[in-house]
Formats: sequence, C-alpha cells, structure tokens
Amino acid sequence: MKKYIIISLGCSKNLVDSEVFAFITESACYQQTEDPAQAELIIINTCGFILDAKEEAISTILEAAELKSTGKCKKMIVTGCFVKRYFEDIEKSFPEIDEIIQLKDFETYKKILNIKSDEGRKLLTLPHFAYLRISDGCNNHCSYCAIPSIRGELKSISLEKLLENAKSLVDRGVKEIVLTAQDTAQYGIDLYGRQMLPELLEKLNEIKDLEWIRILYLHPAHISTLLIDTISSLPKVCKYFEIPIQHINNDILKSMNRKVTKKQIIGSIESIRSKIPEAVIRTTLITGYPGETEENFEELLEFIKLVKFERLGAFTYSREQDTPAFDLAEQVLEEVAEQRKDMIMALQQEISEEFLAGLVGKRIKVIIDKESTLEDYILEGRSYFDSPEIDGIVLITEGKAEPGDIVVVEITDSWEYDLIGKIV
Ligand code: SF4
Repeated sequence: MKKYIIISLGCSKNLVDSEVFAFITESACYQQTEDPAQAELIIINTCGFILDAKEEAISTILEAAELKSTGKCKKMIVTGCFVKRYFEDIEKSFPEIDEIIQLKDFETYKKILNIKSDEGRKLLTLPHFAYLRISDGCNNHCSYCAIPSIRGELKSISLEKLLENAKSLVDRGVKEIVLTAQDTAQYGIDLYGRQMLPELLEKLNEIKDLEWIRILYLHPAHISTLLIDTISSLPKVCKYFEIPIQHINNDILKSMNRKVTKKQIIGSIESIRSKIPEAVIRTTLITGYPGETEENFEELLEFIKLVKFERLGAFTYSREQDTPAFDLAEQVLEEVAEQRKDMIMALQQEISEEFLAGLVGKRIKVIIDKESTLEDYILEGRSYFDSPEIDGIVLITEGKAEPGDIVVVEITDSWEYDLIGKIV
C-alpha cells in the first residue's frame, strides 16, 4: 500500500486541519507512516504566525525536498498558515513542492488525489484524547498578532455540530476532549450574539462516557462570572484555566490592544481561586514587546511572584509584518527580550517546583496516556492540570491501568514540572 506522512506544525487548531487531510488521504488508499523516508506522499501542514514557526516550515520543506531527490517520496504537498501568508513567495522559492494548497482547502486536495470522500478526521493524537475546535479566526486584533489576517474573523461552529462531533469522538473511544480556538471564551458571540461557552460546557458535560473536558485559550478580557461558575459546577470540566495574559503592565496591555487591564486580570484570577480552590491557572507571557521598559518588566516579575501561576510559558516578541506593532518605535533588542524570557522561566521553575512538591502525599486523578519509555516507570499519564503536549506528566511506579483509563494516583515525589506516583 502507498504510504503517506502528514507533518503537522503549529497549534492544536492546525492539528485538527491535519486530521481532516489525513482522513482524505486514507480515503485515497494511502497508509500512514511516521517515517518520512518511507512516504511516497509528504503533506506538510505549516504554521506561519511568528518567525520561529516560519523557519520551522522552511526547514521542514527543505528536508522533504531532500527526500524527494533521494528517497521514495514522489509528491510533496504544502498547506497551512505559512501558505496563507506567503503563497507567491513559497511558489517562487520552492519549485520542489508539487502542490501548494490554501488553508483548509480540502476540496482542492480531494481533486489532487482524484477522490470523492466525506469529511472526517483521522485522529493524530493518542486515541483517548482529541481536540475539538469550537471556532476559527479571531476578532481581537492584538497589535502583535498576524492570526486574524491568516485565519480571518471569528467563525464559531454551531452548538449542534459541535455536540455531534463530540459524540462521534466519544463513540470512537475518546475520554478527554480539549476545546480549542483562538479565543474560546468568545465562542458563539458571532453566531448567537452572546458568549455560549457556558452552554456548550453544560451540554458536553451530559455526554455519557466523556470523562474530561479541558478548555484552552481563554482570553482574559472575556472571562465572565458565569463561565467561572459553570466550570466550577460541572464535574467533567477540568479545573484548569489556560489564560494567555501576555503582559501585566497597563500601558503595554493597551499598546497590545488586549482590551483588559491589570486590575481586571487580577480580579479574574482572584475570583477563580476563591470559587475553585483546586483551580490551576496556566498563562503565557511575551517579553520584549516594543516599548517594554526595565520597570515594566520588573512589574511583570513581581506579578508572577505574587500570583504564582502553576503553569506558565514565556515567548519573546516576534516582529511580524502586517501587524500594528511592526511599526512601533522603541523596538526592544532581541538579546534583552531573551534575557527577560530566561529570567521569567528561571523564576517559574521555582514556582512550579514549590507547587508540585506541595502535592507529595496527596491523591489526584490521572489519565493514563501510554507505557513509559523511562526506566523505573511503568506508565505515563497526565493530571487534570496537564494539558497534552504543553504541560508536565505523571510517571507511574506501581499499579495496573490501560491507556485512556482515569485512575487515582498517590503522589510520592516531584520534579520541576512533573510528578511521580503510584496507582491506588
Ligand atoms: S486573541 Fe490576540 S493573540 Fe490570540 S489569536 Fe486573537 S489576535 Fe491573536
């Protein structure tokens, strides 16, 4: 059977598109391989919103081109956000590419493979968890962000369609559904004229055999009391809040067009923590945004020390064409931005160590992902506060369980970002 590989770069939203491309490819009688050297067809679903992502897309295309000249590969197809932003440049620069397909242009892909097929998803995640993209595009227009120019304005998927998708995922053995979008908190505002995430969660919570519902990308300006109360009241919704705040200084937040103030952000965090004591908050921060002074950065460090996010990621500002921030004065030197990012991550490592050490001796629920490849450990899983691929893991030393099982684990030890425990 002909083999294909799909290389999915970037975020969970892009992965959902890759799963549709994979489904169509298998409808054309290709078999998936993880080894690019074995593939006759290489599909690269690119990311293109910041410099690092664009560089990764280019190096992946060049590696595939190398395989075309030396290996089994007969056809290289490139799609995704990098294509949406730079179609002509890619066409000129990479003659090795056989087909360049626009973002989510599944119909053209079917024509290229000369097939008619329904649309479906071949899950590229572990079989027991899956992403559910609830909308695409974004209306927030943050000053540094190219995503609205790539993915367009916010477009929510109807409640009925999402419930149908969720039920079909659960019928296929999915236990954990991870809700993803550019801004999940704004779900439904375009389609229903109001935020519908609370209602969606209520409905998802009723789905039999669905065990965990996780929410990503909650924009801090759109977190309502109703949403916090809904998450608090629904047993299947993980008490995990992924809230990218990006910065805390009011002038920087204003320049970023984040539509939220320091006071509001602190208010939401305090409300979450007072209503849900076991809540875990994850955030992401940008260092080196134009105009960020040493004082602004000190304010951010003090804020991190105050809030002690259980999970945190930091990125340096990426100066992106066609974004308002591109032309701002007072661009910060890259090495200064890097230093600031490193200082944040060094501080966060201490905070994470303290948080996890505090769980030793406690019992928490863990979803088992797979057998561990690490010596001394039998299984690997994630707690309710570990999102797939971005947070830590739980390594199991004792007990029996299968991938997809949700078990109670007694924590016996902790590392910087990971936990160790035994099934009880
Ligand atoms: S919320 Fe802001 S950063 Fe996120 S996708 Fe929308 S415009 Fe970009």
